[in-house]
Amino acid sequence: LKTEVAAARARIQAAASIAIFSHIRPDGDAVGSLLGLGLALASQGKQVAMVLADGLPSRFRFLPGSDAIRTRAGAADLTVAVDCSTRERLGLPPNGPGGVDLNIDHHISNTRFGAIDLIDPEATATAEMLFALAGPLGLTVDTQVATCLLTGLVTDTIGFRTSNVTPRVLRMAAELMELGAPLSEVYDRGLNRRPLHAARYWGCGLARLEREDGLVWACLTAEDRARTGYPGLDDADLINVISALDEAELAVVLVEQPAGMVKVSWRSRGPLDVSRLAREFGGGGHEPAAGAMIEGTLEGVTSAVLAASRRLIQGAPGKTP
Ligand code: 5GP
Ligand code: MN
Repeated sequence: LKTEVAAARARIQAAASIAIFSHIRPDGDAVGSLLGLGLALASQGKQVAMVLADGLPSRFRFLPGSDAIRTRAGAADLTVAVDCSTRERLGLPPNGPGGVDLNIDHHISNTRFGAIDLIDPEATATAEMLFALAGPLGLTVDTQVATCLLTGLVTDTIGFRTSNVTPRVLRMAAELMELGAPLSEVYDRGLNRRPLHAARYWGCGLARLEREDGLVWACLTAEDRARTGYPGLDDADLINVISALDEAELAVVLVEQPAGMVKVSWRSRGPLDVSRLAREFGGGGHEPAAGAMIEGTLEGVTSAVLAASRRLIQGAPGKTP
């Protein structure tokens, strides 16, 4: 990894303009890593474009620099992807920038699509990697950068609750606080607060909660969104409610999408590797948390996903659908 870091540093030093991208349906680590790296590079005098194809989710508007995020970028000397496991996850238009020069990510499913790949599946968040890489890459972490990176750390660990959290990660969070990052605000904005619509939308899914042994699942429909006024196309974090249930060895949420697609989220407790399951369906993620966007009707995708999920629980090797 050392040679990659040195190469990355040289590429950054040589670039006057840098475009940074993160993934579609951005979460706190996508936004925090994008902004943290972007602000650190901007304060070095680089001309920085920060790009989220789906735009900034409103809950992250409190983050410094978030006003500057755009949905596309022009040409740049250096193209960087953060927190993206595949090139497709960038959501770039076909005529967008060709190659990704620098790929910084912590997903075990990363396809190594960069010219330089900095991948650490043991990191709890891409933001954690960026904090560790700041020194070696010649970047300064000021209060604004620290706030963004702490947001990535707090959200990807669901408030330091995931099993990959170590004393080292907590020390990192403490260091980010010492640099001025406001933990309670980051926690509240990043994880806790949500609009009333979201709770009503959860209610639709919870009313249809199903269970079969250790498998617990729920679906959300386009009609649920219309009825409750929930503006997003996501599950409003319902998966984190369901995966907390005692019975849920494996939790699944299926969300009907426009154009005949279904977004599926998996969470496991214990030994089940749901990233494998997600990859069977063209998605990806981490062992305990993964997702996929699957073509088909809600009924059709539900039955295929449940069949594969049962196979995983029963210990049989999954088959590609
Ligand atoms: P979620 O279920 O919250 O959408 O995602 C859980 C994890 O799986 C995240 O780490 C996310 O990056 C990954 N993930 C979710 N959807 C997809 C997808 O469509 N493709 C890939 N490669 N990863 C996904
Ligand atoms: Mn992440």
